[in-house]
Amino acid sequence: MNELREKARELLQSGTVKVIIGYAQGTTPLHTKPIIIRFAEDSDKLVMNKYCVNNLSVYLTRKEFKGNGTVGIVAKGCDVKSIVQLIQENQVNKDDLYIIGVNCNGAVSELGKEFSAETVATKCLHCMVRTPHLYHTLIGTQEELPKRADTNFEMLQKLEAMTPDEKWNFWEAEFEKCVKCYACRQACPLCYCERCIADKSVPRWIESSAHTRGNIAWNIIRAFHLSGRCIGCNECERACPAGIPLSLLNRKMGMTAKKEFDYVAGMGLDTPTLVGTFDVKDNEDFIK
Ligand code: SF4
Ligand code: SF4
Ligand code: SF4
Repeated sequence: MNELREKARELLQSGTVKVIIGYAQGTTPLHTKPIIIRFAEDSDKLVMNKYCVNNLSVYLTRKEFKGNGTVGIVAKGCDVKSIVQLIQENQVNKDDLYIIGVNCNGAVSELGKEFSAETVATKCLHCMVRTPHLYHTLIGTQEELPKRADTNFEMLQKLEAMTPDEKWNFWEAEFEKCVKCYACRQACPLCYCERCIADKSVPRWIESSAHTRGNIAWNIIRAFHLSGRCIGCNECERACPAGIPLSLLNRKMGMTAKKEFDYVAGMGLDTPTLVGTFDVKDNEDFIK
């Protein structure tokens, strides 16, 4: 923690960064909240622990931060994946960023619960970026991560084994619960369109009331818009008040991108984006 605070103080005092987006203590020791600090004397408000769950890169595309000087950001490896994806998509200029990378020891799946083998987030179970793949300075040391069964993957396998009708019934029942609050969109660092297709009314592509037809359209369109781009931070599912297992959709899309195109979103700064490129040799077997 001291390492983080000292670095933040140094960066703000020297004028290397204008602001730092990080985590502050929340209402209990099992909660943290995002904080934006502009003054070196506020550096002691920063914390870093297993309850630093939010993917703070969601703020990088906000107009308050764009073109207003170098932004410092505290980032776990999974958050750095979305930063890389945002740079690849020309939404963030890497020269305007200072990444304080964190050697990560996992994150809790739900704020307010004690971190343990039962509560470690699913995304941490197979994490390849506990040391971020892009940073300006690296803080912290690593400990062993607790292990548990990947029940999310087990559910995905069950879904894979279903008939198309059974799959449809499963997702129809899940999307029934959607209340069209758009929390999934707001929490997602890669849902940055200034005007979302869901808000367009001329023409109205997606029905705005929360009923099955519009809910299915919204969730399927969002999954398609994130395919080959979603970095699996799982912030959308965490934000969803209806408990819809959005990670199953996102993970399936990610697995397809890997299988068909050997592409993993957010990993290669110099790699063109999957949806932004076309190769005549691309495997098209999946188009049915
Ligand atoms: S996915 Fe990796 S980097 Fe992200 S919180 Fe879990 S262990 Fe840390
Ligand atoms: S779709 Fe969900 S898991 Fe994927 S990047 Fe957005 S918030 Fe993260
Ligand atoms: S967060 Fe959940 S309930 Fe809200 S719009 Fe997204 S899927 Fe629907």
